[in-house]
Amino acid sequence: MTKKKSSKKHKVEKILRVAMPEQNPKERIKNFDEVNLGYNQKDALREASRCLQCKNPRCIEGCPAEIDIKSFIGLIQKKKFDEALEKIRECNSLPAVCGRVCPQEDQCEKTCILGIKDKPVAIGNLERFVADREREREARGIQKCAWSEVTKKCTKERIAVIGSGPAGLTCGAELARLGYQVTIFEALHEPGGVLVYGIPEFRLPKEIVKKEIEYLKHLGVKIEVNMVIGKTLTIDELFDKGFKVVFISTGAGLPYFMSIPGENLNGVYSANEYLTRSNLMKAYKFPECDTPIIRGERVAVIGGGNVALDSARTAKRLGAEHVYLIYRRSEKEMPARDEEVEHARAEGIEFNLLANPVEILGKDGWVNKIRCIRMKLGEPDDSGRRRPIPIKGSEFNIKVDVVIMAIGQGPNPVLTSTIPKLKLNESGNIKADIETGKTNVKGVFAGGDIVTGAATVILAIGAGKKAAAAIDEYIRTGVW
Ligand SMILES: Cc1cc2nc3c(=O)[nH]c(=O)nc-3n(C[C@H](O)[C@H](O)[C@H](O)COP(=O)(O)OP(=O)(O)OC[C@H]3O[C@@H](n4cnc5c(N)ncnc54)[C@H](O)[C@@H]3O)c2cc1C
Ligand code: SF4
Repeated sequence: MTKKKSSKKHKVEKILRVAMPEQNPKERIKNFDEVNLGYNQKDALREASRCLQCKNPRCIEGCPAEIDIKSFIGLIQKKKFDEALEKIRECNSLPAVCGRVCPQEDQCEKTCILGIKDKPVAIGNLERFVADREREREARGIQKCAWSEVTKKCTKERIAVIGSGPAGLTCGAELARLGYQVTIFEALHEPGGVLVYGIPEFRLPKEIVKKEIEYLKHLGVKIEVNMVIGKTLTIDELFDKGFKVVFISTGAGLPYFMSIPGENLNGVYSANEYLTRSNLMKAYKFPECDTPIIRGERVAVIGGGNVALDSARTAKRLGAEHVYLIYRRSEKEMPARDEEVEHARAEGIEFNLLANPVEILGKDGWVNKIRCIRMKLGEPDDSGRRRPIPIKGSEFNIKVDVVIMAIGQGPNPVLTSTIPKLKLNESGNIKADIETGKTNVKGVFAGGDIVTGAATVILAIGAGKKAAAAIDEYIRTGVW
């Protein structure tokens, strides 16, 4: 009897992981507003209360930016939201971005101890909450961002960063914090890299990227847009202008095609062009912006990564009745984030798995069908995923008017081809030390997708941080 009483007394309520509120799928396919709506304060406190504040917080090991996750969640538990944000910013200048697009399920949340028996703490959702809270409070005139009234004066050596994606922005921010005079040179008219031209508004609103970039400007970072380094200025000219070090973070912006017949028909896009037209050039805001984009009624998207799903979901929002996602392996091998796959299914994207295009057919120069072949899975290949094998005689046609190729991107050679002594690998990526970003050319560092090939935002951030530390050491010691 006594035993029963005490067990009742000590029974602790199990708190379930707080779900991310989202727009209804039927409504959201008619707009480009963000799908995930974010936690409110009550949700955030409830979710933070699930964190055990472990002695050995394994979540931190899973974060390439090494954010002190335990501490920032501990601060949320104590309702110290501003301090929680500052804690994240010690290691990551782009919290509102990472809270939205990082594949936490494969990183910090994968190693969170709670994940062994239950769902891990929603670390990304909490990171997003503290970053959004600051922006929203400022917008409502409640509180100014702590950094908004001070622009830091940087006086140390001049550093040139080429490319303003997450790798370049992070390297720039870290160096500015150390007092260096950083200028980021960006080829496009807007800074942000894939964050502005690739990832659609409904996953990452551009106003959020802008705000994170504003923070960098307050740290003292200068950004020059419309500067194609290798064309407008060369690397040698940057050194001649007094830059002591150059960090190359030009990403992987060159789209791959399949080399199948029909790829030159009207109506065939690379995902890169399709998403750039929609996001950066605001084609989705027609008639306010009249950037041309073909709004197909039946659209085929080829690929199984985030880029493919972003293209498919964009096509749906641009009014397509049928959007077919054609991927040569099964869902298990799809590299896209689980959340994107779930969202795409809920939005009515039609998955055509274990299928591969062999030809695009056309009429009067325009796409009207795509011919595919069924595939089966064999033994694992070099990527560790099971190799897709065509099934003879299983070809079939799908009636489509737009085809979007999202099968991967490689490095753009515009800059690297102007530095003949710079060592590249067989894919054209820069060979650089993974721990320091050092290349074989003195004073030239590199990081992000231009080194690793197309990867993730957080890996690019990690590379930018490591390179900044190595650049500082090189300048202080003069040792290459
Ligand atoms: C559609 C899409 C969706 C994605 N979704 C996700 C996701 O959900 N989660 C995730 O973690 N990752 C995602 N990724 C991958 C992620 O965005 C990249 O890994 C990351 O942006 C790489 O950062 P980076 O700084 O190396 O390069 P980028 O972001 O590519 O930035 C490179 C910048 O360099 C500029 N540049 C290039 N050449 C020059 C030059 N010669 N002179 C000056 N500037 C130059 C480019 O214009 C660009 O702005 C996605 C990628 C795409 C394309
Ligand atoms: S591992 Fe999970 S439970 Fe432990 S401190 Fe990190 S987030 Fe909290």
